[in-house]
Amino acid sequence: MKIPFLSFEMSNNQLREEMTAAFSRVFESRWYVLGEEVKKFESKYAEFNKIKHCIGVSNGLDALFLSLKALGIGAGDEVIVPSNTYIASWLAVSYTGAIPVPAEPSRETMNIDVQEISSKITPLTKAIMPVHLYGQSCEMEGIMELADTHGLFVVEDNAQAQGATCNGKLTGTMGHINATSFYPGKNLGALGDAGAVTTKDDFLAQKVRILGNYGSEKKYYNEVVGYNMRLDEMQAAFLQVKLNYLEEWNRERKKLAGLYTENLKNIPGLTLPQLAEGCTHVYHLYVVRTRDRDDLQQHLQLAGIGTLIHYPVPPHLQKAYSGFGFRKGDFPVAESIADTCLSLPVYPGLREEDVKYISEHIRNFYNRA
Ligand SMILES: *Cc1c(COP(=O)(O)O)cnc(C)c1O
Repeated sequence: MKIPFLSFEMSNNQLREEMTAAFSRVFESRWYVLGEEVKKFESKYAEFNKIKHCIGVSNGLDALFLSLKALGIGAGDEVIVPSNTYIASWLAVSYTGAIPVPAEPSRETMNIDVQEISSKITPLTKAIMPVHLYGQSCEMEGIMELADTHGLFVVEDNAQAQGATCNGKLTGTMGHINATSFYPGKNLGALGDAGAVTTKDDFLAQKVRILGNYGSEKKYYNEVVGYNMRLDEMQAAFLQVKLNYLEEWNRERKKLAGLYTENLKNIPGLTLPQLAEGCTHVYHLYVVRTRDRDDLQQHLQLAGIGTLIHYPVPPHLQKAYSGFGFRKGDFPVAESIADTCLSLPVYPGLREEDVKYISEHIRNFYNRA
């Protein structure tokens, strides 16, 4: 492969010394779970986001689950989720015993649509989970207003959009409680599984801490039936290093995305990412849409260019959710995105000439025949 879909080569090379030092520090500390490194990362991530609380946890799915549990969501409740998202958003709701209720996205931004959310609210609805998909902030003002009107909680799934904003406010700081993932490929990625919950609310923060640590505030005294969903010291040390680079790397992603957008404009049959007013995009993924998706992917593959599909099957059509009885055609916008979307390489270390090369091959594809 000439240009892989994702490569950690540049970021790893850039950070080798700092990461090795972080490893040594934790190794020599002889303290590997819930110590100073986790505390330091939590305050650093909270400061980055200008939010009062950050609780480091085991991964993004657990961060979503703990956020919902802290709100008291469980069996008999409904949570509105996007029909097009990574399945983790739905699974977190299912883990609590509540029902994920899908709402369609906007055809332009591919993020959950406020009118669609509104049409899904029932007396059982407890929360809305907007997902800032591909790195673009959802239109949060309308969502927060709707939630206020109906007395609902908002849990942002910020796994893909660390550093994005909506009218100047950072994603992961607008909902009542919010979750993010530091899976290695995310904009802020650990060297393994990791995640975090962010909130302004003292009570919810404390609940997440207790739930994620065996239901215990004081060691060996358990207040509730909790879980082991802790962030470990090693990942917290690595994340402190990588957080210093998040803004720089997001800028790099945006620059590469801008180049794609410039090079690929005005190709009939190819839809480029579209931004909502007031929302920024940190390009976790650069997703184009085309009816010739499979052929285009094949064409790029032959030119040594790696691409992926995020995601080929929307959650409602997954076997895992066959029990809900959804059918093809129930969520046409999500289904059309699944059938037409293609993610192009975008990551720190990808070169401008790579974007040019990829763009040329895409143009060739549309000029063929
Ligand atoms: C990655 C991701 C998650 C889950 O994060 P993990 O750390 O893999 O558990 C949740 N939601 C979205 C939108 C994601 O992209």
